[in-house]
Amino acid sequence: MIKVNSGFSRLKSNYLFAEIARRVGEYKNTHPDDALVDLGIGDVTLPLPSAVVDAMHHATAEMGRKESFRGYGPYYGYNFLREAIAENDYRGRGIEVGADEVFVSDGCKSDCGSIGDLFSEDTRVAVCDPVYPVYIDANVMDGRSGVFDDSKGKWPGIDTLYCGPENDFVPDVPSGDEACLIYLCFPNNPTGASINKAQLTAWVDYALQTGSIILFDSAYEAFITEELPHSIFEIEGAKKCAIEMRSFSKTAGFTGMRCGYTVICKELMVDGISIRDMWIRRQATKFNGVSYITQRGAEAIYSTEGKGQVRANIDFYMRNAARLREGLIAVGYEVFGGVNAPYVWVKTPSGEDSWAYFDYLLNEKGIVVTPGSGFGDAGEGFFRMTAFGSEESTLEAIRRLSEKCGHVSSSSGLTT
Ligand code: PLP
Repeated sequence: MIKVNSGFSRLKSNYLFAEIARRVGEYKNTHPDDALVDLGIGDVTLPLPSAVVDAMHHATAEMGRKESFRGYGPYYGYNFLREAIAENDYRGRGIEVGADEVFVSDGCKSDCGSIGDLFSEDTRVAVCDPVYPVYIDANVMDGRSGVFDDSKGKWPGIDTLYCGPENDFVPDVPSGDEACLIYLCFPNNPTGASINKAQLTAWVDYALQTGSIILFDSAYEAFITEELPHSIFEIEGAKKCAIEMRSFSKTAGFTGMRCGYTVICKELMVDGISIRDMWIRRQATKFNGVSYITQRGAEAIYSTEGKGQVRANIDFYMRNAARLREGLIAVGYEVFGGVNAPYVWVKTPSGEDSWAYFDYLLNEKGIVVTPGSGFGDAGEGFFRMTAFGSEESTLEAIRRLSEKCGHVSSSSGLTT
């Protein structure tokens, strides 16, 4: 009999979003006339920028003509897109990155999950707590985590880096010297925290000293409003110790389109082996590229028109973030994030646990949030709200939170 990958049986059940859906479903069954405001899930609500749609129409027409039809594309992305990324996201910002160091993919989640193929099973892993759960689950599947130790509440192969109000949700550099794969995500989901240059430099220095590799998820870099690093490659030495992953999902409304990219520079070597070359080999074997139409759509994000439209969408979401932040603070909540990220991270007012407060907001205010404990132990006592909702939902959420208490009115007709 064959053996299945035992990593799968070690996974902890995907409790968070299933449990939210269950509780919301129950509420809707018992209150069919109430209008919920859902600021829980982190999906975008604005449609694609018209520059993207136009480019995809054009590319679709090309695919329908014999002379311009294209079959399989390059595994790593078409050169027109790799070049546009390298030029606009890097060289235009003073970071020397070649198009041949940019690898287009169907999104940042895929790359976060697949990058582990390049590293041995006994590599130690470090993740922030709270954390985007994909980093942990991918390593559990890959066999790097060991078996979850219930008595310690930890995976033996995965170190957790505490992120809380005491360190502004930016993990402190550890004192140990063991080489590990360090997942950093800034601006952060779920906490909305950002990292400054000095803090990121400390992490790069640590990685260089210990032979660690930083997997830098900058899916939300476009939401930065302050003077902060957008790329880890702004930090000296980072090309030798970091991989950067980005996404068009939140930046340009591509959650349903699927396109992102990973940058691995030629300088990144482990034991004389080029990590970039390994990724090329990995992608050539397990990935067949992103559709031509999608990549033409992504390229249009970098046109003058596209840039303006993307900026307008991001500004819209960040206005929601500011409204949430200010609205919540005005009502007396302790609020983090929402300045350089489309999420606000909120402390439950009287130390309630995250799920208890989730239930309160659902049942008493008709608002759906994401309980912080679903992102890790350090998320307990917090909840996350997203700025990706409509303006109407955002304002309605604030209005409901400002009301002293009482049940949800069904008069607003909101359904999102
Ligand atoms: N990384 C982080 C931190 C995210 O929050 C998300 C989506 O929520 C992703 C990656 C996924 O990005 P993509 O849609 O490109 O797969």
